[in-house]
Amino acid sequence: MSDHDVDVLVVGAGATGLSAAYALQAAGRTVLVLESRERVGGRLWTEEVDGVDLEIGGQWVSPDQDALLAMLDELGLETFERHREGESVYVGLDGERRTFTGEQLPVPPRVESAMARLTTSLDELAAQMDPARPWDMPGARELDQVTFLGWLEQSCDEPEARDNIGMFIAQAMLTKPAHTFSALQAVHMAASAGSFSNLVDSEFILDRRVVGGLQQVPLRLAERLGSAVRTGHDVEKVRWTDDGVTVTSGDLTVSALHLVLAIPPTAVTRVRFEPPLPSIQRETRQHQSFGQVIKVHATYETPFWREAGLSGTAFSPYEVVHEAYDNTNHDESRGTLVGFVSDLRADAVLAMPAATRREVILASLSTYFGPSASAPLTYFESDWTSEELGSGAYGSSFDIGGLTRFGPRLREPAGPIQIGSSDVAGLGFQHVDGALRVGAELAQAIIAG
Ligand SMILES: Cc1cc2nc3c(=O)[nH]c(=O)nc-3n(C[C@H](O)[C@H](O)[C@H](O)COP(=O)(O)OP(=O)(O)OC[C@H]3O[C@@H](n4cnc5c(N)ncnc54)[C@H](O)[C@@H]3O)c2cc1C
Repeated sequence: MSDHDVDVLVVGAGATGLSAAYALQAAGRTVLVLESRERVGGRLWTEEVDGVDLEIGGQWVSPDQDALLAMLDELGLETFERHREGESVYVGLDGERRTFTGEQLPVPPRVESAMARLTTSLDELAAQMDPARPWDMPGARELDQVTFLGWLEQSCDEPEARDNIGMFIAQAMLTKPAHTFSALQAVHMAASAGSFSNLVDSEFILDRRVVGGLQQVPLRLAERLGSAVRTGHDVEKVRWTDDGVTVTSGDLTVSALHLVLAIPPTAVTRVRFEPPLPSIQRETRQHQSFGQVIKVHATYETPFWREAGLSGTAFSPYEVVHEAYDNTNHDESRGTLVGFVSDLRADAVLAMPAATRREVILASLSTYFGPSASAPLTYFESDWTSEELGSGAYGSSFDIGGLTRFGPRLREPAGPIQIGSSDVAGLGFQHVDGALRVGAELAQAIIAG
């Protein structure tokens, strides 16, 4: 006997699941959303920590993210521009700290030319790819069999150019070492943002933030869905036939005609299915894994770097913190820097005692912004490795060869079960924009069917 009977059961109250549920409800379907955490939002999480509102998860909005921009309008949310006036900082292969304005890193002319050539190559490859079908582009198979590091080495003999171009996709986006994913996956990351040039343009990709935090998107969607959203329900088991599903979570049993599993691929493998999912569905998800990044928030009495003429933006593939930005909140007098420690460096600092890790990370921020950076009023690390339901950030991607081998089957339903999250998006891959696009597509598949 079921406690609930609905048309569509949605599992996961992140941006994907809630936007799917919202679209389904608008189309007249009855829905129920079950979320295992005690909060909605998944990888979107705005929280007050030591008196400062922090974006523990996703936060930035770029001008081409139409699905996200439309949703912000729909929900009546305002945005504000990221502070960017002043000089940015770069630490090069020679260990020298240099300041610069604009997007061109202050590198020697031969490195600059080599970076320009790699940028053109990646833009050309991205232009040949439909991000919804990366496996169809000319030469996809060959690009999927070589690591991004291997491709960079074949394409360029300037180490500093390779390190910088590699950083923009490996450390900054997929948050995995460049030897662990394919050149095709790298091109897909670029194509999903419109081009590689868009991806490296921090003015563009990190343009704006949402007043009150990006978690407002799932919070407001959940508010509109009302009692159709239930938190604290970890879905452990799905029984299914071609006619529908029955799902169990603790004492709750729900039957529905359709199931939307709006959870990351790694979370799909935690759920038991009866009968088992077709083997291709399981295998596909075993080849997608999360990257790793620690998002570090340091708040100071004032945004002191601005007085020194600095924007708060900094990059270096050679620093523990490979990128940093002014993350001061809207209408706040205190100043916040946000820095990112990615992939192998994240592994290394996570193995350190917390006090040493803090020291090492603040020393890296001080290299960019001077000694005042070493003494913040508050310091907080968003560590998504410890989150069992995600186990990393920002998203998951395929291992070598996985995109062409499994990608074409990735979006196939299994009977009444649709599966998706920002991790399977074309445009907006690994971003909230992609989550909303996937949410709309999953809902449409059910409405149209
Ligand atoms: C640190 C960080 C920074 C980021 N920065 C940005 C950014 O600046 N801009 C941007 O656009 N994107 C950013 N992202 C990525 C963005 O946040 C995600 O792509 C997006 O929020 C994913 O939404 P989703 O709904 O697809 O998945 P999720 O948000 O992961 O939602 C899935 C939900 O399913 C739940 N769940 C899982 N398993 C079960 C189960 N068995 N039963 C019930 N519930 C379950 C989870 O608890 C979760 O709430 C960032 C992410 C992180 C972590």
